[in-house]
Amino acid sequence: MSEFGRLERSATQRVGLIGDPVAHSLSPALQQPAFDALGIAARYELWQTSAEALPERVESLRAPDLLGANVTVPHKQAVVRLLDDVSALARRAGAVNTIINRDGHLVGENTDISAFATALREVCPEAEQRGVLLLGAGGAARGVILALETLGVRQIAIVNRDRERARRLASEIRSMPIDVVAGDDIGLLAALEQARVLVNATSLGWHPGETPLAVDHLQRLPSDSLVIDLTYRDTDLLIAARERGLRTLDGLSMLIHQGARAFELWTGQPAPLDVMRQSVQQAAAARERSV
Ligand code: NDP
Repeated sequence: MSEFGRLERSATQRVGLIGDPVAHSLSPALQQPAFDALGIAARYELWQTSAEALPERVESLRAPDLLGANVTVPHKQAVVRLLDDVSALARRAGAVNTIINRDGHLVGENTDISAFATALREVCPEAEQRGVLLLGAGGAARGVILALETLGVRQIAIVNRDRERARRLASEIRSMPIDVVAGDDIGLLAALEQARVLVNATSLGWHPGETPLAVDHLQRLPSDSLVIDLTYRDTDLLIAARERGLRTLDGLSMLIHQGARAFELWTGQPAPLDVMRQSVQQAAAARERSV
């Protein structure tokens, strides 16, 4: 049966977010207006799910009225072994953020990877010619490296608080050498001088005053550098970068593209990007005002 056949079969389809916590997610603001704009009878739900309840939750996605799911923290890794098929890239990432129900057969994809590549290419079409300094070595950093690989970026350095974790990540990416830089001032400053894209993929940035490096260090970046923060807000790092005349990109752009790709996989239709962007920006702004 075609994907459209599946959409026609039941009055209202459902799709949702599996995670813990999910209450403050921006995903409903991203997906529901997209379904509504295209006249697709589907409802986006929030499915708070503990680790114990994860297998049952995933199993429930096989029902005919379920399009699939998004998966967020802390289940992106654990969900991989519960699916029937996982794309090659998601398998390399060791993480799935999107599940598609294809007639009872559950397929896992990682749309964070293509989303980062798309978001970067939008603002930096010549990304492959640039050196990238990546801060962090967790799940998001792994996705960023795989995205940089798809774009053909050849010069990548990583700095992480736990240097051994960065070494392990670098050694697992076999397609290219990755420099693991010491987090001390000497290593970091030299790496900044070599980079023309700085990416914050650490968890630091959600709170005022919280930055993954001393903002004075940004002076070391070449003047045409781009500073990207995966945090879904305008962080102190990005504000400081703009004050130094550098270009910036926040995590909302990546969030929008991962959601758009998930929408396309569930529905078989092109995502209404402008609708999604406008709605999620409004929701993010409202959230900023409420904190
Ligand atoms: P992980 O928990 O897997 O990794 C966290 C990273 O942050 C590690 O590198 C960790 O270093 C570092 N870190 C945490 N606390 C500190 C600290 N106090 N000082 C220095 N380094 C620290 O998280 P993820 O990789 O999944 O997520 C990272 C960020 O990316 C989050 O803010 C998340 O919201 C965001 N994200 C955004 C996406 C988007 O679409 N825009 C998609 C996915 C994630 P160490 O190894 O030393 O502990």
